[in-house]
Amino acid sequence: MSTEGKFEISREPINAPRNARSRWRRFDAMRWFASCYAKPLWWRLGVGVAAALLGAVLRLAFVGLLENHLVYVTFYPAVEVAALLGGIASGGVTTVICALLAHRWVTPIANLGDWLGLANFLTTATVISCITEALHRTWIRLSNAKGRADDEDQLRIINERLRLAISVAAVGTWDVDVPANITEASPEFREIFGYAPDRLVNPEVVFSTVMPDDLPTMQAALRVAFAPTGDGRYSAEYRIRRANDGETRWISSRAQAFFKNGRPVRLVGICRDITNEKSARQLLIDKARLAEQLTSVAASLPGVICSFRQSAAGKQSMPYAFTNFSSVLGLAPEDVRTDAGPIFQRVHPDDVSHVHAGIAESARTMTPWRDEFRYEHPQKGMIWLEGQSSPNLEPGGDIVWHGYVQDVTKRKRGELELRASEARSRALFDSGLLGVMCWNVNGGVTDANDKFLEMLGYCREDLRRGQLNWVYMTPPEYRCLVEAAFAELKATGATKRPLEKEYFRKDGTRLPVLVAGVTVDEARLNGIAYVLDISERKDAEARMQKTHSDRMNVMKSMAAGLAHEINQPLAATVVYLKTLRQLLDMEPERRPTSVAESLNKVATQITRAGQIVTRLRAFIAHGEPDKIVLKLHELIQDAYDATSVKAKELQIRMTLQLNSEEDEVLADKVQIEQVLVNLIRNAKEAIDASERREIVISTSSSGIDIRVDIADTGIGLSEKMKPSLFEPFVTTKANGMGVGLSISRAIIEAHHGRIWAESNPEGGAIFGFTLPLASHRSELKDE
Ligand code: ADP
Repeated sequence: MSTEGKFEISREPINAPRNARSRWRRFDAMRWFASCYAKPLWWRLGVGVAAALLGAVLRLAFVGLLENHLVYVTFYPAVEVAALLGGIASGGVTTVICALLAHRWVTPIANLGDWLGLANFLTTATVISCITEALHRTWIRLSNAKGRADDEDQLRIINERLRLAISVAAVGTWDVDVPANITEASPEFREIFGYAPDRLVNPEVVFSTVMPDDLPTMQAALRVAFAPTGDGRYSAEYRIRRANDGETRWISSRAQAFFKNGRPVRLVGICRDITNEKSARQLLIDKARLAEQLTSVAASLPGVICSFRQSAAGKQSMPYAFTNFSSVLGLAPEDVRTDAGPIFQRVHPDDVSHVHAGIAESARTMTPWRDEFRYEHPQKGMIWLEGQSSPNLEPGGDIVWHGYVQDVTKRKRGELELRASEARSRALFDSGLLGVMCWNVNGGVTDANDKFLEMLGYCREDLRRGQLNWVYMTPPEYRCLVEAAFAELKATGATKRPLEKEYFRKDGTRLPVLVAGVTVDEARLNGIAYVLDISERKDAEARMQKTHSDRMNVMKSMAAGLAHEINQPLAATVVYLKTLRQLLDMEPERRPTSVAESLNKVATQITRAGQIVTRLRAFIAHGEPDKIVLKLHELIQDAYDATSVKAKELQIRMTLQLNSEEDEVLADKVQIEQVLVNLIRNAKEAIDASERREIVISTSSSGIDIRVDIADTGIGLSEKMKPSLFEPFVTTKANGMGVGLSISRAIIEAHHGRIWAESNPEGGAIFGFTLPLASHRSELKDE
């Protein structure tokens, strides 16, 4: 290694540690004198002056004793001490000063003997100083030679150690001769870079092995090392593509540049493959980052991550819990660190046994534990907790579960509510009162209850085959209505008002329905709808409508009939009055009939017209039905009472058989009376010419309706009359108007009943009608 240039290896650090103690002991005095000799010149001159003064003081002290004999007795030792300490410089100064002092203060030079003494002193002192100086220099030279030998020894040992260390640590060494562009690379270096032993290595070869991305960094580090103003140190980490197998490796390289005349001449360095360290370091960094992320994730979790330990002896504790343990369970982690008892004390008494059983089962089978239980939270009250964890068996027999506990109260309440609402829906679904169908946006009916299928005439197999499609089942005129409802459904998730529409039944007929409670899921794809069959109500409405229009028609016809009916007696009246007028012009004795008789005839016709008007008025006077709950038997009784007297006169036997257990109906009293009176009167009129003269009025009940039969033994019903009996103006009577039965039918149907006529097996006719019992048609009370 060059010792030229900026950087040289100092001898001191190599020498210093070796045999330091023994050498110091051996050369202690010599080293002290040597160190004094090595002091600056002014120090050594000072030592000379001090020694001379000390010698003079001692000589003066002995002046009384010695007088002018032995003038230089104390000066010789002074010179010797000075020379030992400071060599010739100190000795010379002491000699001169001592000579001056001796003859200035001790004894002045008086004779030749004094001059000879002085010359002797000067000569002797000079010799002493010179010898001492020579001794100093010799010792130094010897000492240096010994040091160099030791250094070489040391250097060899150090080199050997270094070589070993380099080989063991797999450190590659390299030495670049900068001007010659030659690199000496150690075998380890070649191995690290994947260079064959015989391959020529120079900086360009190394550069070509370095990954292009890292080359600029490495070259920048080199420029720093070669900068004339810097400290020549080179340090870089870079990736290489290893020459022999192309594997990417991380290299750490350090070097020292050496300069000559301000120019870099050598770069000596080491390098190491730090790929494994890098990946280990990266792994550690990744782990630390992961741990950090986990910590922040855990802190933001709604639940708590914790460990639960069950010792081999069965003692349970919670050795680790994340910081949010207190907010989730309302206990400090320290409270349960050694004993998990405080947790179990807060578990709901009904749940504690299954929690323990679950843990025991998990410990026995070493399968994950999962449970839900109620927990008395100190601040929140009763909450629902859900826990899940996996057991690990430890060497000592303890089992540790690492898991997660979270507050699921909200979800649980939602579930319970959902379950209750599902139960309600299921009840509706199964009740058979309402049709329920599950639908999707494509029109499919994915599920339906029996009632729904029955309403529309489908079977379960049709449903299974996907034959039900609520879009196709909706008649075209309702599509707009359905689309509007669907838009509302999409916006709000449910429809507010029930939708009155129709569905096509399987056979193509229409079913009026009320679709209510339509809901759709969050994705707005599937929903549920409740369907009420309103065909009965619709029929009733239609009947009402028909009744109303029938009544209107009847009234129109009546008006025409009235005009016609009244016209006849009025026309007759006119004829009779004209006749009367002629009679009055005649002589009384010439009159063919009497005036009184003609007046009677006029009166009869006018009375008849009056009767027609009265009867018509009785039918039309009453408008809309005024329904109340009334006892039909009482009504029949009244009608019986009103007509029985006249019947007796006509020798008709009227019998009541009021057999129905229930007789309360919701009805208009006057209208039902009209019907009863009309039917009884018709029966009496039919019986007029019969021999057997009986009328039986009977009632019976089906539990839903009350039935009234008015059976007579009259002339009976001709086949020709039967189909048109209830049509208006159908009559077989001379004075009949033929409106009684048609109005009766209108009244009965307005009361949701039915009226009919049939032949009496015993001869005659039976006119019957039904009315719904008030107890069964309670909904009609509101009408
Ligand atoms: P009117 O009594 O004015 O004829 P209705 O409408 O009450 O009008 O009766 C129509 C017709 O029905 C009667 O003319 C009669 O021919 C027939 N009819 C009604 N009641 C009976 C009955 N009990 N037996 C036989 N025929 C009847």
